[in-house]
Amino acid sequence: MKNNDVICWVLSPEFGMLIKRCRNRIGDANHLKNSNTTALSTMHTPLYTSDPRDSEDVRIFDIGVFSKCDGPGVRTVVYFQGCNADCDWCHSPHSRLHRSPLLYNVNACIGCGRCGSCENAVHSFTPTHRVDRSLCKRCGMCIERCPRSTHNVKGSALHLATTTMSVASLFEQIAPYTRLSGASGGVTLSGGEALLQRSAALELLSLCKQRGIHTAVETSGLLPTETYRAAAPWVDLWLFGMRVITGENHPRHDTHIDAVLSELSSVSARILPRIPLIPTFFDREDVIESLLRLLNRYNLEEVCLNPWNRDYDLFYKQSGIPLRMPPPTDDAIESCRKRFASLNLNLYENN
Ligand code: SF4
Ligand code: SF4
Repeated sequence: MKNNDVICWVLSPEFGMLIKRCRNRIGDANHLKNSNTTALSTMHTPLYTSDPRDSEDVRIFDIGVFSKCDGPGVRTVVYFQGCNADCDWCHSPHSRLHRSPLLYNVNACIGCGRCGSCENAVHSFTPTHRVDRSLCKRCGMCIERCPRSTHNVKGSALHLATTTMSVASLFEQIAPYTRLSGASGGVTLSGGEALLQRSAALELLSLCKQRGIHTAVETSGLLPTETYRAAAPWVDLWLFGMRVITGENHPRHDTHIDAVLSELSSVSARILPRIPLIPTFFDREDVIESLLRLLNRYNLEEVCLNPWNRDYDLFYKQSGIPLRMPPPTDDAIESCRKRFASLNLNLYENN
């Protein structure tokens, strides 16, 4: 669900190396939790208080700042780990799982072999560098030893993308960006599927609303209607990804999405359908017919098209997760775009 135009907060590898020399670790989940939680939680009592038995930290795999395509104005985007949609065209496959597998960026690696000291024998050099993630315990020691990696720095040779922290700590980290983006911007919960971590998502939304920050939630519409009902009071805008079909065998989700839209429209939340430009899926006539039926039924007149992500295969290469569909040709993308343009929708495209 990420867009190329988002300027991610994570640092460049070079800057990261500098920081690595200045302090032992940044971004470690426990470090963040211990340093930030107390101060913030005593300052603000969340409007949403989760059941203590349900209380949990939040798992995220990235934060994007100054995004102009994830809701109105300039947005701070929190990418939640974990997804249930299983789209073939997913370009963040490492976000689907409960925790991201170890990412290996061959372009940043200098082949020094220091990660070979992993006691679980994840890294082998026979003769090229191979990474057997099935053996990985996510201890992070190879990142400590690698001269081209820093914890929580995207673009490092080795990267454990999932960070766990308290919601209060997360909010404290994003708050300065929300102040910079001003009243016209806000915070967008993306992923993955943010509401799969329901307690954490609702707590973050509640903290934002307590500060008067505009909130948007990106969703596939494939969670229980009750989850949407619970979140609705804290959501100003739903970025609704129309997954009328998803997955390897393309199960249809029209009926469930219809029920969720019915629920959301009844509580008068603003809904912006977002449709990815995926040739062979979203230019199928039965799919278009289903989309139009839903758009008409709920008077959803404005539709946002998400362009094909040119870096679609990046995280497949880095995570070792097999690609499910080959990248489409430019002609196929253009043909899909034209088909949508012919539909007489109030259409715009994210750049
Ligand atoms: S994170 Fe730990 S277990 Fe996984 S490859 Fe690195 S050193 Fe080995
Ligand atoms: S320690 Fe880092 S730079 Fe060295 S081989 Fe391993 S991944 Fe590459």
